[in-house]
Amino acid sequence: MSGRILVAGASMAGLRAAEQLRAAGWTGAITLVGDEPHMPYNRPPLSKEVLAGRAPFESLAFRPRASVADVEWRLGRAAVAARLDERNLELDGGEVLAYDGLVVATGMRPRRLRCPGPLAGRHTVRTLADAQGLRTALTRPGARVVVVGAGFIGCEVAATAVGLGVAEVTVVDPLPLPMVGPLGELLARSLLRRHEARGVRFRLGTGVQGFEGERTVTGVVLDDGSVLPADVVVESVGSIANTEWLDGNGVDLSDGVLTDGLLRVGGRAEVVAVGDVARFPNARYDGVPRRVEHWSIPADTAKQAAKALVAQLVGSEPEPAPFAPLPTFWSDQHDFRLQSFGAPTLGLADVRVLDGDTDGDLLAGYHRDGRLVGVVALGGPGVASAAARHRDELLKQPALTA
Ligand SMILES: Cc1cc2nc3c(=O)[nH]c(=O)nc-3n(C[C@H](O)[C@H](O)[C@H](O)COP(=O)(O)OP(=O)(O)OC[C@H]3O[C@@H](n4cnc5c(N)ncnc54)[C@H](O)[C@@H]3O)c2cc1C
Repeated sequence: MSGRILVAGASMAGLRAAEQLRAAGWTGAITLVGDEPHMPYNRPPLSKEVLAGRAPFESLAFRPRASVADVEWRLGRAAVAARLDERNLELDGGEVLAYDGLVVATGMRPRRLRCPGPLAGRHTVRTLADAQGLRTALTRPGARVVVVGAGFIGCEVAATAVGLGVAEVTVVDPLPLPMVGPLGELLARSLLRRHEARGVRFRLGTGVQGFEGERTVTGVVLDDGSVLPADVVVESVGSIANTEWLDGNGVDLSDGVLTDGLLRVGGRAEVVAVGDVARFPNARYDGVPRRVEHWSIPADTAKQAAKALVAQLVGSEPEPAPFAPLPTFWSDQHDFRLQSFGAPTLGLADVRVLDGDTDGDLLAGYHRDGRLVGVVALGGPGVASAAARHRDELLKQPALTA
């Protein structure tokens, strides 16, 4: 088979796409272009085990399947401009690679706070280098830590910092509760109590106005003008899609890369998007395209996208069935775990305790129009399997209407 498929982004979704292209019958060339110097590695441990010093890099690296032993890796190289009409991709340095098929897998980067003050001392967590740099800062004796953003990464980092013995860890967020957006009030309240009981302090309902310090941060200025002393600031205030290299092609890049249910981009059958960057309609829900930043999505999207792309390029098989993955997410914080199946955010108006209580192991169901659309468990290690017992019920639910 002749021809080449280019994969832009050489992380989990890029790797899974290459593997699924082979599984779908593509025997032509595959080239992965990635701007990090590393082979694909697993990101969830970055805010947990890597930060805690319990996981060396070797333990993070994915082991690629044998089927992709022959793919070409262009690591430490960024895609800077795609010309979709001409089917080529320009890399930094000016090299232009022609393709027959293109996979967009460039993921996300952390959003930064745009307020006055020094940059030194301010961290984000997306890459291995970020996690290593933050670990060095956290393990300096007497470090005072302020985490800005009480989402899942902010909560994980705060928990890990306390576990490292950091005495002063404060989480700041304009919202009234941690992770209230994805979890709703019932679980977010329970989460807050658990964090506070383990030593994390919270300043909720306030944003950040700026940072104090000459060359490096010494404090975080809150909306009311009060200052939290800080040597280490972690900004965990959301993420931005890495799509600038696709500008100028008439593709909807308003929030990641808009795709159809086959993960095809801009109505082009030879361009697909996978992983965090893809904004796709899920046939299980209301058909509204959404990005989903969960570890399970790279594999799900790669399978669907690869089948569609290979079918287009070689006409080898029929187009795949409608795309209806069941989102799955977990988060480890202190000694407890959050485990989610389905789409809890679609059922935030009707949250019911299915089992347990809000101070112990807790299982909550999220409903829309009286139907279960998501479950979230919070508690000890056993809660994950309690949540998993509802997977089948979630899978059997008829599709939601908009
Ligand atoms: C700290 C952290 C903790 C997490 N913990 C959990 C968890 O507990 N549970 C869970 O379900 N999920 C978790 N996730 C989410 C999960 O890791 C992501 O959903 C997953 O990594 C997405 O993979 P991806 O390949 O789509 O994107 P990424 O992993 O972001 O990969 C994109 C790659 O493309 C590269 N790239 C970007 N622009 C270019 C360019 N122009 N040219 C070439 N390369 C480029 C990037 O550098 C990167 O290597 C966590 C994520 C992070 C960051």
